[in-house]
Amino acid sequence: MRHDYDVIVAGVGGVGSAALYYAARAGKKVLGIERHAIGHDLGSSHGHTRAIRLAYFEHVDYVPLLHESYALWEELERECGESLYRELGLLEIGPPDGEVVPGVLASAHEHGLDIETLDDGEISRRFPGFRAAPGQVGVLEHRAGVLFVERCIHAYVNTARKHGAEVLENTELLHWQASSDGVRVATSGGEFTSEHLIIAGGAWAGTLLGELGLPLKVLRQSMFWYTAESKVYTPEGSCPVFLFETPRGVFYGFPALEGRGLKVAEHSGGIPVKDPAKIDREIRTQDQRNIEQFLASYLPGMGHRLEGHAACLYTMSPDGHFILDRHPSHPRVVFAAGLSGHGFKMVPVLGRTLVKLTCAGGTNAPIDFLSLRRF
Ligand SMILES: Cc1cc2nc3c(=O)[nH]c(=O)nc-3n(C[C@H](O)[C@H](O)[C@H](O)COP(=O)(O)OP(=O)(O)OC[C@H]3O[C@@H](n4cnc5c(N)ncnc54)[C@H](O)[C@@H]3O)c2cc1C
Repeated sequence: MRHDYDVIVAGVGGVGSAALYYAARAGKKVLGIERHAIGHDLGSSHGHTRAIRLAYFEHVDYVPLLHESYALWEELERECGESLYRELGLLEIGPPDGEVVPGVLASAHEHGLDIETLDDGEISRRFPGFRAAPGQVGVLEHRAGVLFVERCIHAYVNTARKHGAEVLENTELLHWQASSDGVRVATSGGEFTSEHLIIAGGAWAGTLLGELGLPLKVLRQSMFWYTAESKVYTPEGSCPVFLFETPRGVFYGFPALEGRGLKVAEHSGGIPVKDPAKIDREIRTQDQRNIEQFLASYLPGMGHRLEGHAACLYTMSPDGHFILDRHPSHPRVVFAAGLSGHGFKMVPVLGRTLVKLTCAGGTNAPIDFLSLRRF
């Protein structure tokens, strides 16, 4: 088969934009196919901000990937000449025997990370905007902060284009077919052939990888922005990124930044979605009530003046960990799926690893714990 491209990337959102860049930078002839415009707000990578942190409560094995992601974000900032990350610190609060605080401490212990532990009294003395319930513990990670999500995706795509990448926006990949000598893809903008295919379809990964029957569940989540009436909820007032494990669920947020209000969202819960293209984007009263109850209990100086809302998609794997692998029946096809609501910070390492799996034939990145074989 004569190949139009060395690599085709299906889906140019978080992971796909990074894969596009690393393939182009490796000198590959690469085409990205994206159903919407770059940086759109209909998938999983919009809403201004994403948290990045090292002391990962979800699994200690992410820490080496996080170290690499920090380095790769810095490298991208240098190359594109834009600021994509801001170090604000992260305060995580919860019961000492919950999931979050022990998980953070386990990662910090295993990987020698610098974490401060605070009791409930120290939390309100150091951070007057926050209130912890008696007996709750805080863990403070200074080297954590915020990535500006749409800016990151544009930075990857613009820089990839400078390295020669081509991108078809507003173009849908309809189906693909792999054989021993290449991959053929049919899109709404024509047919193309390639040596390799990288699938980074986010909430549509299950459809794009239909024959694998991936055990993915798509959830609708909501983000809310509220006017910060007090300086203690701004970076100038030393407000960090925050995450609370409470009896009513896990909530997190970001200080009021870049002219926007304080952002707050629930990480737990979520509404199962049948068709990710047809979700209800309106505010659900119950979601808003849950958020405002959280604010009243834990950020008592915040008013409830709502400035904005957006719906977004989590694509959950059964164990909440990513799936990053080669297609078991088609070695020319690799994919990332099931980022489970915590993948953005790691898109550099995910995109680069997918490119290595295809173009270099393999990777020594420590990703065995993310393989498809575990299901
Ligand atoms: C509310 C919310 C808050 C979050 N907070 C954080 C956080 O603080 N920190 C963090 O690290 N992560 C966070 N996440 C998770 C993170 O944002 C996602 O894991 C990550 O952005 C997903 O990237 P993706 O590339 O898998 O999906 P996407 O960025 O959605 O990209 C998939 C792309 O594929 C395209 N596509 C799909 N099918 C086709 C097709 N057939 N043809 C062409 N194109 C197609 C889609 O249009 C889309 O652009 C959050 C997610 C949400 C929803």
